[in-house]
Amino acid sequence: MENNFKGIPASPGIISGKAFVIDRDNFVIEKKKIIQGQIKNELLRLNRAVVNTKREIFELKERLSKELGDSEARIFDAHLLILEDPVFTKDIIDKIEKEKLSAEYALSEILEKTALVFEKINDIYLKERSADLKDVGRRLIHNLLGYKKRTISELDKKVIIIAHDISPSDTASMKKDKVIGFATDIGGQTSHTAIIARSLAIPAVVGLRNIIGSVKTGDEVLIDGNQGIVIIEPSDKTLKAYQSIKKKFQVFEKELKKVTKLPAETQDGHSVELVGNIESPEEIDTVLAHGGEGIGLFRTEFLYLNRNNLPTEEEQFEVYKKAAEKVGARPIIIRTLDIGGDKFISYMDISPEVNPFLGLRAIRLCLEHPEIFKVQLRAILRASAFGQIKIMFPMISGLSQLKEAKRILNEVKEGLEKDKIGYDKDMELGVMVETPSAAVIADILAKEVDFFSIGTNDLIQYTLAVERTNEKIAYLYEPLHPAIIRLLKNIIDAGHKEGIWVGLCGEMASIPLFVIILLGMGLDEFSTNIVSLPLVKKIIRSTTYRDAKILVDNIMGLSSSVEIRKYIQDNLTNVIKEELITGEKTK
Ligand code: PEP
Ligand code: MG
Repeated sequence: MENNFKGIPASPGIISGKAFVIDRDNFVIEKKKIIQGQIKNELLRLNRAVVNTKREIFELKERLSKELGDSEARIFDAHLLILEDPVFTKDIIDKIEKEKLSAEYALSEILEKTALVFEKINDIYLKERSADLKDVGRRLIHNLLGYKKRTISELDKKVIIIAHDISPSDTASMKKDKVIGFATDIGGQTSHTAIIARSLAIPAVVGLRNIIGSVKTGDEVLIDGNQGIVIIEPSDKTLKAYQSIKKKFQVFEKELKKVTKLPAETQDGHSVELVGNIESPEEIDTVLAHGGEGIGLFRTEFLYLNRNNLPTEEEQFEVYKKAAEKVGARPIIIRTLDIGGDKFISYMDISPEVNPFLGLRAIRLCLEHPEIFKVQLRAILRASAFGQIKIMFPMISGLSQLKEAKRILNEVKEGLEKDKIGYDKDMELGVMVETPSAAVIADILAKEVDFFSIGTNDLIQYTLAVERTNEKIAYLYEPLHPAIIRLLKNIIDAGHKEGIWVGLCGEMASIPLFVIILLGMGLDEFSTNIVSLPLVKKIIRSTTYRDAKILVDNIMGLSSSVEIRKYIQDNLTNVIKEELITGEKTK
């Protein structure tokens, strides 16, 4: 019988096929006592398993590095560090020697004990480390038992992967042409699985809580990545209904592909810049293939995550240089470190905060730690000699803060000059306008920079006092709230009055209905997520600037998001309406 599950849509598209379940490897390892004379042998077995596991991880790292790039592969450094941690191995050796336990039982006891400790800690970074530890532990046990797990690398037919979570090692060994969809118990829109699914452009749903307990390998599964629905053993009626949605979606996608090479220009000749958001340089090719004309947001914090120390100037320089060269003559906006909020790095030893989103985040953290900030600025500046790099500061909330950040930037520039190291002296500097205070004093900030990039993901949460990650109050997170509409208009007008260009890199730029409004407000640059690029271009090309402006004039006086939405929907031309309705379904 058909069984429906609702999760979080992670990557758009509809697909049906056979499930391939990756079980959680819940081994039952029997308690096995050994005698004094066997200790040496157990220690040897343990040592051999550690060596083999290290070799396996090295191989996986190499492979992932080739397929997805160094930043994705860096996760394995954390795994290798665990294996090289003398405390970890000493605990296991102690158990073997003192309690006379078999190597696998000693290891499983240590893993269980550590997992219990991690469970009690409320820290995202440490929770990730706990997952790393489990991954390494599983590999060690496999090697101790000589057990060969059936991996995704053995797939010979196209399947939909169902898993509690998909580990980096799983993704590394996956044959990309055989995996046509994902569904996982855990994860959110920014989890590793969701990011990989989006960059592979395959439908995915995450956060299903307990999908793995309800499906077996070989079951028929349907994934609706647009709405976050997974249907196990769908009935003929459901399949038929989805067939027609899928057909419409495929026609729509085919149509969309046609616009990728065309300019982002309205029917009355108004051009805007359409660029993409990335987390690592490996995504640049996909942005360009989807019709992006450059990079509007490179979230550099991902260079700082999944490791145990800060990235050096040289390491960062190489990444930024490679990115700038890939983008070529097109622009790439590198955002300085935005750590804090929901992204943490434990090796920095920052004390926990009651309200991390209102705490030591982004530029605040960089100004508190200029030694870290300067390393990044120097790396970005050096890379600017190799392409069209622009730089921007996140979370600016006042003028003196911006001036301080600029002072440090100038100091770093002077240092480079002293060292006779080249950089782009005309490099543009911008700020992200993502706090209500910055939005209100946009006229003042505009005098200090070359451009604005509006960060609506944060601007909405801070203006409406609605945490962006809290599903309980998600209904209050309203991009069409008159307060947001007024702020957006104020920022764009203030920027233009001072002669600077204004872009937007929050998710709002990726959603069709909002694209029309932003266009009518005179937004110069739209920086969207990769999969939305063609749709946004199509929307821009289907309207006139004149109509979009009239629409904006008419919504400015309305008093609620419901009224605004209704007005837009009632007043769109039929062509745009069709695009919007189908487009909304792809979200
Ligand atoms: C934003 O806040 O809109 C933004 C683009 O930045 P992030 O999502 O990384 O906070
Ligand atoms: Mg932000």
